[in-house]
Amino acid sequence: MEHVVIVGGGFAGVWSAAGAALARGDADLRVTLVAPNEHMVLRPRLYEPEPDLAKVELGRVLGPIGVEHVRATVSAIDTERRVLVADGEQLGYDRLVLAAGSALVPPRDLPGAERLFDIDTLDGARRLTEHLRGRDGCTAVVVGAGFVGLEAATALADRGRVLLVDRSDVVGHQLGPGRAGRSSRRWTGWASSAACGRP
Ligand SMILES: Cc1cc2nc3c(=O)[nH]c(=O)nc-3n(C[C@H](O)[C@H](O)[C@H](O)COP(=O)(O)OP(=O)(O)OC[C@H]3O[C@@H](n4cnc5c(N)ncnc54)[C@H](O)[C@@H]3O)c2cc1C
Repeated sequence: MEHVVIVGGGFAGVWSAAGAALARGDADLRVTLVAPNEHMVLRPRLYEPEPDLAKVELGRVLGPIGVEHVRATVSAIDTERRVLVADGEQLGYDRLVLAAGSALVPPRDLPGAERLFDIDTLDGARRLTEHLRGRDGCTAVVVGAGFVGLEAATALADRGRVLLVDRSDVVGHQLGPGRAGRSSRRWTGWASSAACGRP
């Protein structure tokens, strides 16, 4: 029986698993997804005040479509032999989808880094939520006025003062010239401060 193995349980991995299950039809095809996490994390929602709501149990999605979930971390892939190593165990495959995603590398050596937070992962978002507990009225500095920075700043503005810092002259410059200008005016005229432009 052919074996499709997918590494990663994020959007790309789960979408690939669903695609393989759909394409399988009546064919004899085994589909396995390897990821250490029990949940798929909806990363675009991690700026919300309750990040634990932004996750979906992988078993609930993969079970009904006949995809096996191996909870493990892949440490090596031998493409010649078509074998990977997951938590020390070898797993053979005929087709491999590598969907291991991305991870933020925070600048831990910066002075004051102990007060740096991110919303890249569920754990990161939980740490920020925990830090903010009981701190209504505090000042938060958001570095980066792109999509994620704007979402984070907007959510944080409910809690206190927000200073949004970006090297671009306008807020949300990735939105394109017209929208960025409108977003910039709305933002600066709204509740908080935006410090834009190169230092
Ligand atoms: C705050 C925030 C807001 C965002 N907003 C948007 C938005 O509005 N619109 C948009 O399009 N995108 C948005 N994004 C980006 C989007 O969330 C990501 O592009 C998407 O989640 C990436 O999915 P992925 O499956 O490629 O990778 P990931 O989500 O990184 O998933 C990777 C998976 O691989 C697993 N894995 C990693 N290494 C291994 C290994 N060695 N062995 C086994 N498994 C492994 C991980 O455990 C995880 O399950 C946002 C991201 C963030 C953080």
